[in-house]
Amino acid sequence: MVNLILFGPPGSGKGTQAAKLVEKYNLLHISTGDLFRYEMGNDTPLGKEAKSYIEKGELVPDEVTVGMLRNKVEANPDVQGYIFDGFPRTIAQSEALDKLMAEKDTAISALLMLDVPDEEIIKRILERGKTSGRADDLDETIIQNRIDVYKSETSPVFDYYGKQDKAEKVDGVGSIEEIFDRLCASVDKL
Ligand code: UDP
Ligand code: MG
Repeated sequence: MVNLILFGPPGSGKGTQAAKLVEKYNLLHISTGDLFRYEMGNDTPLGKEAKSYIEKGELVPDEVTVGMLRNKVEANPDVQGYIFDGFPRTIAQSEALDKLMAEKDTAISALLMLDVPDEEIIKRILERGKTSGRADDLDETIIQNRIDVYKSETSPVFDYYGKQDKAEKVDGVGSIEEIFDRLCASVDKL
């Protein structure tokens, strides 16, 4: 199996690139952000809980996110591999993911980080907000909070996988195709 973590700040292009990687390498795309938006759209209890955090740009608590992720993985056992997009976002989530992979007799193959400067990220998110229908893409205070949370809670995940020799930075500025080619070069080395 090839199990990838697509990592990077909000607005770094994870969703866009994950969709392309999934097609090329035949992996299952699991975006916890998309799963939360689906739950919120259906106004489920999980969606209602998630909304109270997402609308502030905060992280949904680890137990909630990990439980939802586990359900999705367990519902799809017969795949060639997973691509995790926007997860893990904390060290505790990383430990839970490694444990889950070990239970399935597999492991994370690599974490690929899309490296994009702050100014570019804010520009991209505000642009996306015009059409995404996402309230958290429209308000600069919420966007800034998401970036702050990324720096304080999420960025340590890079070093966590760095210690396992699995973390790699990829330049996330350029055309969608250029960035995709860079990611593929990293995946093909695995
Ligand atoms: N979120 C979370 N945990 C996750 C995924 C998403 O708490 O594992 C919440 C968080 O509030 C985040 C929002 O959902 O700001 C949107 O996440 P998504 O990954 O879709 O946005 P991105 O960071 O890719 O722009
Ligand atoms: Mg996303």
